[in-house]
Amino acid sequence: MTKSFVKKGDKVLVVTGKDKGKIADVVEVSSKSGKVLVDGVNVVTKHQKPKSQQDKGGIIKKSAPIEASNVMVVCPVCGKATRVAHKELNGKNVRICKKCGATLDKEYVKEAKKEAKKATKATKAKKEDKGE
Ligand SMILES: [Zn+2]
Repeated sequence: MTKSFVKKGDKVLVVTGKDKGKIADVVEVSSKSGKVLVDGVNVVTKHQKPKSQQDKGGIIKKSAPIEASNVMVVCPVCGKATRVAHKELNGKNVRICKKCGATLDKEYVKEAKKEAKKATKATKAKKEDKGE
């Protein structure tokens, strides 16, 4: 079984098909079928039967899943569509952006950002100590 490189909540770039070039959020990933449901991508029209007397039914538009291989993850750090590498970090397998080396997993991105903020604060404090 291949491990999916795409996760729910990822931003992805559609690289093939009728929605090629679109960037949108992953709503759902099915590891069984290897397909991903991307918000507003591969919209299909469905005819719905009326459910009640008030509900007239009609035509509804819905996103349908596409092959995971049709998308590339957009790195939240560098903003580029990238291939995904895997790396072990703190005993966990995380996904890495091949373009900039940042981790693509949200919990780690958050942490990386926090660390960066801390570092900036520390530098600032140091500067203030010196009276700069
Ligand atoms: Zn990146």
